[in-house]
Amino acid sequence: MAEPFDVAVIGSGPGGYVAAIRAAQLGLKTVCIDKNAALGGTCLNVGCIPSKTLLHSTELFWKILHEGKELGIKGEKLIFDFPALMKRKEAVVHGFNEGIRALFKKNKVQALVGHATLLSPTTIQVGQEVVTARNILLATGSEPIPLPFLPFDEKEIISSTGALALDRIPKKLIVIGAGIIGVELGSVYQRLGSQVTFVEFMDRICPTLDESLSKGLHESLVKQGLTFHLSSKATSCERKAGEIKLQIEKGDQTKMELAGDAVLVSIGRRPYTENLGLDRVGIKPTQKGFIPVDGSFRTTQSNIFAIGDIIDGPMLAHKASEEGVAVAEIIAGQRPRIEYLAIPSVVYTYPEVASVGMTESEAKNFGLNVVSGQFPFKANSRARCTHEEEGFVKILADGETDRILGVHIFGAHASELIAEGALAIQRHLTALDLAHTPFAHPTLSESVKEAALAVHKRAIHK
Ligand SMILES: Cc1cc2nc3c(=O)[nH]c(=O)nc-3n(C[C@H](O)[C@H](O)[C@H](O)COP(=O)(O)OP(=O)(O)OC[C@H]3O[C@@H](n4cnc5c(N)ncnc54)[C@H](O)[C@@H]3O)c2cc1C
Repeated sequence: MAEPFDVAVIGSGPGGYVAAIRAAQLGLKTVCIDKNAALGGTCLNVGCIPSKTLLHSTELFWKILHEGKELGIKGEKLIFDFPALMKRKEAVVHGFNEGIRALFKKNKVQALVGHATLLSPTTIQVGQEVVTARNILLATGSEPIPLPFLPFDEKEIISSTGALALDRIPKKLIVIGAGIIGVELGSVYQRLGSQVTFVEFMDRICPTLDESLSKGLHESLVKQGLTFHLSSKATSCERKAGEIKLQIEKGDQTKMELAGDAVLVSIGRRPYTENLGLDRVGIKPTQKGFIPVDGSFRTTQSNIFAIGDIIDGPMLAHKASEEGVAVAEIIAGQRPRIEYLAIPSVVYTYPEVASVGMTESEAKNFGLNVVSGQFPFKANSRARCTHEEEGFVKILADGETDRILGVHIFGAHASELIAEGALAIQRHLTALDLAHTPFAHPTLSESVKEAALAVHKRAIHK
């Protein structure tokens, strides 16, 4: 019988593949099993990477179409080549699939394709094969939640997976759920000419964001032509020859009907543990399907660990990767620590939204004495050069210690700017630490410095 693996990782998403590489770097004999031959999980195949590829091209198109004149760009009629975009998206994804395979080879991680089912705490069935391992890491991710009266066909009633692979641009797209994935994918199709209407159960879009950002993004998307029905829910559906009619109930009990040729159901994701064999090893998921773990990512079975979207916490690729690294180090006997407050979250719309740390209401609910500083991009010289003046940087600090509690950015390239905020939270920096740091000129990042100065009412350019 073959020598058992030190670590068998189930799932090759950003949690699983990163954990496998880190485990191998630490000298552990590692196998990574995925039922999908295309390595990379949700993030690479049907999530972060394809969506950002579509967002990038459509944003460029939209900008030249709507701001070209002002920027001095003139040309013959601008058209969008949708099939070419989809082809490029496939190529980007495929390139990274192969990239992970190459990283596995370089680090001596064995890759195995097949659905994995736990047989015992140390054995896994993969097709005809039985894999034996001293430690098992579950990183099987999540799947989109359907609505009972709108099952996905991925042609007309689509999940995010279908929305990333359409062969047509819908004329009227209804998006149920104005969370991060909904507004990103809604933006893609709106820029390509779809009439996009959102139905959102909550009274604001992207409700986990700081209220000021959620409001700013809402106003901006409305200006771009997207329509939102807030405090509303879809209650039933009627389908007739390519037309989908949805009955909508508003918070005040009024009813309305929306019609479209495609409906994107984007109401959230749930942990995916189908046929994983959890019952065989005595692991009982929570009511919402998450796998309970302790502070070391250990399940109730001490040699079986779980990370990423299948455990509680924000469903984010970089959160899964941080946990992947940590769990590999724990298995190797180290004692890593993740600062969850320093994990940023981004909405890749135009303008982008990025946040790290506490929102203002979270900090106040915590009983903290919150002071804030805000700086608008319209007062930033680089933003004026690049015609990206919409939005602001908002920094929250503790009124007593000056420690930064949260950094919230609404504006172009917020996804890149937020890294400074994450470092500030991770290293427990104060607003003055940021304010006294030199930033290159002219850059958008100077707005971060100015917002930190504004915490102390010392901003120079406002
Ligand atoms: C449209 C969209 C856009 C997103 N954009 C972003 C973004 O911009 N930034 C961000 O941080 N996050 C984003 N996310 C979320 C991100 O994709 C997830 O948080 C991340 O992929 C979770 O990683 P994971 O490793 O936990 O699981 P996953 O990436 O879901 O990977 C799980 C893997 O396990 C495999 N698997 C499952 N069960 C078995 C089994 N029994 N046997 C073998 N293999 C199995 C699956 O095939 C899959 O490959 C997005 C998600 C979507 C849907």
